Amino acid sequence: MDFTPLPEHESLRLKVRDFIERQVLPLEADRSNYDAHENIALDKLEPLKAEAKKHGLWAPQSPVSRGGLDLPLVAWAPFYEEANRSIFGPVCMNCAAPDDGNMRVLSRVGTAKQQDQWLQPIINGDIRSAFAMTEPHPGGGSDPTMIQTMATRHNDTWKIHGHKWFITGAAEASHFILIARTSNDKRKGLSAFLFHKDQPGWHIKRRIPIMGPEEHGGHCELIFDGLEIHEENRLMEIGDGLKLCQIRLGPARLTHCMRWLGLAKRCLEIATKYVEEREGFGVKLADRESIQLKLGELAHDIHIGRLLVMHAAWKLDAGDYARKEISSAKIHVANTINKAADTGVQLCGAKGYSKDTVLEWVYRYARQARLVDGADEVHKMVLAQTYRKEGNDFWRWGI
Ligand SMILES: Cc1cc2nc3c(=O)[nH]c(=O)nc-3n(C[C@H](O)[C@H](O)[C@H](O)COP(=O)(O)OP(=O)(O)OC[C@H]3O[C@@H](n4cnc5c(N)ncnc54)[C@H](O)[C@@H]3O)c2cc1C
Repeated sequence: MDFTPLPEHESLRLKVRDFIERQVLPLEADRSNYDAHENIALDKLEPLKAEAKKHGLWAPQSPVSRGGLDLPLVAWAPFYEEANRSIFGPVCMNCAAPDDGNMRVLSRVGTAKQQDQWLQPIINGDIRSAFAMTEPHPGGGSDPTMIQTMATRHNDTWKIHGHKWFITGAAEASHFILIARTSNDKRKGLSAFLFHKDQPGWHIKRRIPIMGPEEHGGHCELIFDGLEIHEENRLMEIGDGLKLCQIRLGPARLTHCMRWLGLAKRCLEIATKYVEEREGFGVKLADRESIQLKLGELAHDIHIGRLLVMHAAWKLDAGDYARKEISSAKIHVANTINKAADTGVQLCGAKGYSKDTVLEWVYRYARQARLVDGADEVHKMVLAQTYRKEGNDFWRWGI
């Protein structure tokens, strides 16, 4: 593959960079612009969304005909990375999780009618969405074949009973994608549905308190006690729930990586600025080899992450599922953002531990990266299984 960006993608990247630098970072620097859950306050977000739209920096994952930029994945990478130089960036440009993954999957698998009703308002930025899959024990978590939430058919209606948790954004989402069991078939036992927050038959049991800052709408526990979903709001075919998850989660894992690389670079940027200024024992910190080793190692890890992400993006653009490439990128980048935040805090000393920079925010946020959308161990299991099947072909180039 050729890593040279197309001129139009490079100029878009520079526009994102400029937007973040001039409009978002100044706002991020003032804690009075944060909401109670340490995200950008909604009244501050709306004008920035309007600005991003005005500058053509809106919904990079969505079709042009619906108001997006319809970029190939290799062009998402620099866009998302620049966007997440600020902790507030992606949500200002409508490319934050979980809306980002939900828009991508709905624009791929939804019927035209479903897209008009369920996708268009998310692309417009009028509403938010959620993806409800994970369940508490004994339901499905790492292993989706354990999903227990049941969808039972009565003529043209599906009745839902079950329990989900850690559903990001649920407290403020209007449109939900739900994964539920429609049979006991091992591969074809799950199906996907759409529902609106105002439908009766479900409720939020609680917003789960977490260690890090929260997406708008938090991470919620949901109870389904008779939600009725009309057949026209079922996605794909009956039994295609796992397939939909694959279509959604592959690119969604990769866009997480793209954003996390932006945050990792920001940590390195803050730490470097500090050690370039700070002196101790008669020497500038940046001139110490022990400090340079830390900076160099981080730059090296970020570079590896970018290569893994680009390789997977290139394969996805070519129509491949890129399963092992995405798993490799997810493991590496999830660990790199943790290392970047930890190194950043360490190099900035007491200041790193304070709220004077976003390092402590990223430090607390980063820990989820090794759990969400497949824990490290699960992705390593996928790699081991693939290697056992492919042998030395595991490392073949090409599609
Ligand atoms: C902040 C946050 C946001 C989330 N948002 C959403 C959301 O929007 N929608 C949604 O549906 N879910 C969401 N989740 C859930 C997330 O996807 C799951 O937490 C994840 O898939 C792991 O499932 P689990 O928590 O049930 O862990 P479990 O399956 O109980 O696993 C626990 C641990 O066991 C280990 N483990 C598991 N399997 C293996 C294995 N095969 N080999 C070795 N070790 C293993 C891993 O260390 C793992 O962390 C979110 C979670 C968090 C923390």
